[in-house]
Amino acid sequence: MTIASNLGFPPLGAARELKRATEGYWSGKVALDQLLETGAELRRRHWALQRDVGIDRIPVNDFSFYDRMLDTCALVGAVPPRYGWRGKEVDLDTYFAMARGSQRKGRDVTAMEMTKWFDTNYHYIVPELEQGQSFQLSSHKPIVEFQEAKALGINATPVLIGPVTFLLLAKAKGDVFDRLSLLDSLLPVYAEVLSELAQAGATWIQLDEPTLALDRNEAERAAFLHAYGQLSKRAGKARLLVATYFAGLDDTVSTALALPVQGLHVDLVRAPQQLDKLLTAWPKGRVLSAGVINGRNVWRADLAKQRELLDRAAAKVGREHLWVAPSCSLLHTPLDLDLETKLDPELKSWLAFAKQKLEEVVALAKGDQRAIQESSTAVKSRRASQRINNAAVQRRAAAVTDKDRVRGAPYAARRKAQVDLPRYPTTTIGSFPQTSEVRAARRKLNDKQLTAEDYERFIEAQIGKTIRLQEEIGLDVLVHGEFERNDMVEYFGEQLAGFTFTEHGWVQSFGTRYVKPPIIFGDVSRPSAMTVRWSRYAQSLTQQPVKGMLTGPVTILQWSFVRDDQPRAETAKQLALAIRDEVLDLEAAGIRVIQIDEPALREGLPLRRAEWSGYLQWAVDVFRLATAGVHNSTQIHTHMCYSEFNDVLQVIERMDADVISIENARSGSELLQGFEEYKYPNEIGPGVYDIHSPRVPATAEITTALKSMRRVLDDAQIWVNPDCGLKTRGWEETLAALKNMVAAAKEMRNGSS
Ligand code: GLN
Ligand code: ZN
Repeated sequence: MTIASNLGFPPLGAARELKRATEGYWSGKVALDQLLETGAELRRRHWALQRDVGIDRIPVNDFSFYDRMLDTCALVGAVPPRYGWRGKEVDLDTYFAMARGSQRKGRDVTAMEMTKWFDTNYHYIVPELEQGQSFQLSSHKPIVEFQEAKALGINATPVLIGPVTFLLLAKAKGDVFDRLSLLDSLLPVYAEVLSELAQAGATWIQLDEPTLALDRNEAERAAFLHAYGQLSKRAGKARLLVATYFAGLDDTVSTALALPVQGLHVDLVRAPQQLDKLLTAWPKGRVLSAGVINGRNVWRADLAKQRELLDRAAAKVGREHLWVAPSCSLLHTPLDLDLETKLDPELKSWLAFAKQKLEEVVALAKGDQRAIQESSTAVKSRRASQRINNAAVQRRAAAVTDKDRVRGAPYAARRKAQVDLPRYPTTTIGSFPQTSEVRAARRKLNDKQLTAEDYERFIEAQIGKTIRLQEEIGLDVLVHGEFERNDMVEYFGEQLAGFTFTEHGWVQSFGTRYVKPPIIFGDVSRPSAMTVRWSRYAQSLTQQPVKGMLTGPVTILQWSFVRDDQPRAETAKQLALAIRDEVLDLEAAGIRVIQIDEPALREGLPLRRAEWSGYLQWAVDVFRLATAGVHNSTQIHTHMCYSEFNDVLQVIERMDADVISIENARSGSELLQGFEEYKYPNEIGPGVYDIHSPRVPATAEITTALKSMRRVLDDAQIWVNPDCGLKTRGWEETLAALKNMVAAAKEMRNGSS
């Protein structure tokens, strides 16, 4: 019989117990013992769940109180000096201080950096490493959790992030140096962990090396071979499974196959094409863990189709060496579809969350004919359903031509027809403080404690106040403040056809922050205007231009669970047409400046460089499709933040927005350096201050920032704006910062500086 295996399970708990307990601990309301017990209880519950479903190979050490990369830092003692840690077992307070910074218990330290985990919306803590630093075993978490499971009669598989991936994802502090130069000091610590686990009775140990499936140079490939050459000698009786996911091995196949390990996991959902290459050279007796159930989305699989892949693999590697598994850890899917009591039954019959995905794994492993049959029926019914197919939308998308993506005139000519503004025009990115009062009003509306009319009155009052304050401060292009929005994607999803929402579909974003991504299940269209009411109201209160504010098609796509039955590009095109309609309605309502936010454009880049240009082509196309319908006189803005822009500067030009505002304080001089080498043609507002801190920037600081921009950009190109939206800030610091920002712009105009 084929083994049913799992790579990782979401730790949160059905009632979000882990989030509550952890945040409770941070605020001092939950004792350490209680937090630890909540963790232990969740682990027990989730192991039992996996066992009861029929999973043979259950992971441990996939649980984390914050993040698995951070766990790995603790494991190997990679604790930056500022945390004052003294080199014994890394305690939970040090651990959380690394994650979030701390001003408690005599410590005043900043957090470690956080960044996106490959192409997911999960953020990991980036290890900070110094040249020549040493490592030492500093946490026994994997062993403790292995023993906990063992005590319950479960011979679990400890899961570690592999040493090469750990180093490749780390950041070199101080002088730039080759992170892989630390491999030889790191490996003995891993060897110690493996041998302790083997002694404790682990029969398999999983080492996650997703970076092996990305573009790798010669030295990096050699590092994998070297690392596993060393580790395989130290694993005792335990066998090693190297796990790759999110991309295919393709050109790293031979490296992967040459690793002296007993098993290899590959993602056959993202990269089914790698299977044939792997099978032609598959080493005899090695276990193939076939990731055939998608760990990155919420759709029920077509099991019959996946069984064909498995049969092909089995014919070569032998059934006894074949494991069936999800494509990656189930961390990126919600916990359990059974919790959704309000979902429409037809939609629900198409979905699978973590628990249901494990049932699919088991059905395939055990060859459960009935389940396989049922899944194919469900997939067919979804394909044919009236719910997903909208002929009008499909016709319209098919009829789009290049002309629909081109503005009437080039930028230079358009500019003359657009709003008249002083040099160094000032604006904000859209949202103003979402105070507890604003959130309470939304909650009351949902709980029916507030009528729709009263809620609208309330939002109008917020808008009125915000317009007045912006006028007083002297900003040039105003915004309405986005008070009516819970979230920049959800707000639009709720008003578009083809979307649905869950009650409990939480997915970890970072630490204790979880999001409930909307599910795009069908053809997308816009039944009626979504934002016009608020923009028109705001514009009616002032002579200054008010900027309409929309989320772009790529960002909506990127932050939702998307259909798996058509290419992402096609769904993005439908989203673009819906946004295009909204843009035109805003224009017709007298809005002269419209911003379409695309903060997720950069993060949508495929993991492999070879696929970049294809993605960028359609991403630019859909942005243009959303925006190009307006008259020359309408000024189109876009906004991006918190990513590496220098890879995509030229692409930004191709989007042909009249103005882009772009976060700059954190990625700082890097962005401006990019503009030294490359001349951006349209207008641009590199953020002049970081909105993540309540700190109020002084006018002089802002003029300094603007002057450094002037070195690489023309006066006439530069806009003055913060880095990003202000929704997480308080009013007081917001107003003070914006006043200084306007003062700085005025100084620049007067040339008095
Ligand atoms: N317009 C949005 C805001 O100001 C943009 C948010 C973002 O870039 N993530 O909140
Ligand atoms: Zn932003």
